[in-house]
Amino acid sequence: MKIVRFKAAGKTRYGVLDGTHIVEYSGTPYGTFKKARKRWPVKQVVLLTPVVPTKIVGLALNYREHAEEMRLAVPEEPLIFLKPLTALCGPDDPIIYPSQTNRVDYEGELAIVIRKRCRHATPERAREYVLGYTCLNDITARDIELREHHRTRAKAFDTFCPIGPCIATNIDPNAAEIETWVNGERRQAGNTKGFVFPVEDVVARVSAVMTLLAGDVIATGTPAGVGPLQPGDRVEVRIDGIGSLKNPVIK
Ligand code: MG
Repeated sequence: MKIVRFKAAGKTRYGVLDGTHIVEYSGTPYGTFKKARKRWPVKQVVLLTPVVPTKIVGLALNYREHAEEMRLAVPEEPLIFLKPLTALCGPDDPIIYPSQTNRVDYEGELAIVIRKRCRHATPERAREYVLGYTCLNDITARDIELREHHRTRAKAFDTFCPIGPCIATNIDPNAAEIETWVNGERRQAGNTKGFVFPVEDVVARVSAVMTLLAGDVIATGTPAGVGPLQPGDRVEVRIDGIGSLKNPVIK
């Protein structure tokens, strides 16, 4: 199923995509989640971030080709960082280009959404803790990232974490086509088969550091082909079996 969070008739609701419609569900996908009677045309609602996490964990250099293009070594342990919740924005929300940077890059990524509390998961059991997968654009102020030792400032600006449009529960996360398009031109094309650390390892290793809670998000890193955005651009992350996450860039 493809789970969405949306606003309709002044209320925030959960539902499941069914073609051009959303079937409303009661409860949340982390507990009791029950089909309700109401159906909404997708065009008449506002899609929100499909998830409200307590933290967003990012992975750096999880594709060999991307590490090569950055002229960096592939890490032996997953290289992780955090993005603040205030960076989140939903489908069609604008990415705001900050005045402190001259180089803002897109990074199309597959994001893992955690289903329930998870601590010290083994790779064998890691998938039990996963609700599904969504698209995430790990927007990065590249000039700041390259001159600082830490990734926090480069990746933490407000609106630097578009996510959505839905949480797909039935895809193979280790064999998904992933693309990033800018103004209708394809800029990144990869497959999650290129992961250095597959999803099971990522969940196991991150949960060995910090307790993951329902709704937490782990961005699994970007394939090769990162590049700059300009105000006025429209950026889109597409993943097979999930859908398309589109956001305009504004000054
Ligand atoms: Mg990234």
